[in-house]
Amino acid sequence: MLEVLNPATEEVVERLEPATEADADAAVARAKRAFPAWRDIKPSDRSRLLRRLAEALDAERESLAQLESRNTGKPIGDARDEMGMVVETFHYYAGAPERLLGDTIPVAGGVDVTFREPLGVVGLIVPWNFPLTIASWKMAPALAAGNTLVLKPAELTPLTALEFERIAREAGIPEGVVNVLVGPGSKVGKRLVEHPDVAKVAFTGSTEVGRGIMASAAGTIKRVTLELGGKSANVVFADADLEKAAASAPVAVFGNAGQDCCARSRILVQRGVFDEFLSLMEPAVTSMRVGDPLDEATDMGPLISADHRENVASYVPDGAPVAIRGEAPEGSGFWFPPTVLAPLSNDDRAAAEEIFGPVVAVIPFEDEGDAVRLANDTVYGLSGSIWTQNGARALRVARRIETGVLSINSNTSVRVGTPFGGMKQSGFGRELGPHALDYYTEVKNVYLATEEG
Ligand code: NAP
Ligand code: MG
Repeated sequence: MLEVLNPATEEVVERLEPATEADADAAVARAKRAFPAWRDIKPSDRSRLLRRLAEALDAERESLAQLESRNTGKPIGDARDEMGMVVETFHYYAGAPERLLGDTIPVAGGVDVTFREPLGVVGLIVPWNFPLTIASWKMAPALAAGNTLVLKPAELTPLTALEFERIAREAGIPEGVVNVLVGPGSKVGKRLVEHPDVAKVAFTGSTEVGRGIMASAAGTIKRVTLELGGKSANVVFADADLEKAAASAPVAVFGNAGQDCCARSRILVQRGVFDEFLSLMEPAVTSMRVGDPLDEATDMGPLISADHRENVASYVPDGAPVAIRGEAPEGSGFWFPPTVLAPLSNDDRAAAEEIFGPVVAVIPFEDEGDAVRLANDTVYGLSGSIWTQNGARALRVARRIETGVLSINSNTSVRVGTPFGGMKQSGFGRELGPHALDYYTEVKNVYLATEEG
């Protein structure tokens, strides 16, 4: 039996029978049977069904947020925001079925047109940090483009995905179009990646598992998109609005208890303002309220599991240069306090590896060139921020930093209407925005000869 825990209390929230490889095969078979009808449904009807699904999700938004908060330990306010994004994502892609336009291309002797066709059955594998949110970034464009899907949530956090399956059915999404499979990645996830009837796997998770998925996908020449780890830099120049940058830097890394692929877990600060920046940041760290996720005043909840906490703690050994540390509850729950390590060098383990917890490395830099070099001195390339009041410098540096997503004088990464994804070992492919549809469709080119004789 799979025991699903509340990481804030360590209590069992639900017991589930985990799926097997045979269940994965059955789910793929259901999705395969459902595909032709879903592909061929009138675009306006597919659009209407997705709109209805968005409304049904909206109607259950509060209970979904409560469930997500209990299963992940994330603060209820954050869970509410996330469910708002889930609803918005389905509304956004509900408009897509009637707008999947092709091209007409000038050629000699005839007419040439392209069609954007769905891939078929897609396998969606997602992590535990933003369970339903990340699933929605994949499900909504996949369905809008006419694919059917099998979703495999992380075993630690499967509850909102199961609710989603019910809500989709009740909203009238045809049988077999949405299938949720709760089981271990090493078995049912692997089976989806190897299955000959799965046309594409969209994966979000660790770079290590992503590497294995990419290798296994080779067997069936399966399409893959990978959203992997990150070690994003928050670059603070001496000419920045330091108070604003320092006040928002803790949220940018300790949000979701640091379990965020976009966490700005390296803060690069220009040397002349290094100490000033740390003292400005201190109150924002020590005043963070870490505790009961269902309390509206809570800023940060626990980590996802005991194993994960142990791993995070290994980055703060005795003698580590802890410059600032917040508080965390004692007793049951996988708590870990917000922790600022400074000064660190970019080569230190805590600065080089993705920690995925509330630990941030603060690193000094000399000048613009040094900042760019340090920001890029990582295998990852997902997100990041630049703080400066010099607009030309902001854009110059933004063009040089090797990440898929950047923000200037802001720590935000994700919007429903804009593309999100990584460079380098943070993966490839883009989610959200119009771009996501490219990764759930195939371009077909058709030439019609029009010359007589
Ligand atoms: P993970 O261990 O890579 O697992 C992600 C998903 O893959 C889970 O559903 C897991 O299933 C499944 N899985 C594990 N082994 C598999 C295999 N051999 N074949 C197929 N599926 C397999 O990642 P995580 O620990 O859940 O999440 C943390 C990581 O996700 C971090 O590295 C973070 O940076 C990354 N992440 C990236 C983004 C992004 O958009 N770039 C967003 C969020 C998180 P089970 O766990 O159920 O076994
Ligand atoms: Mg894992």
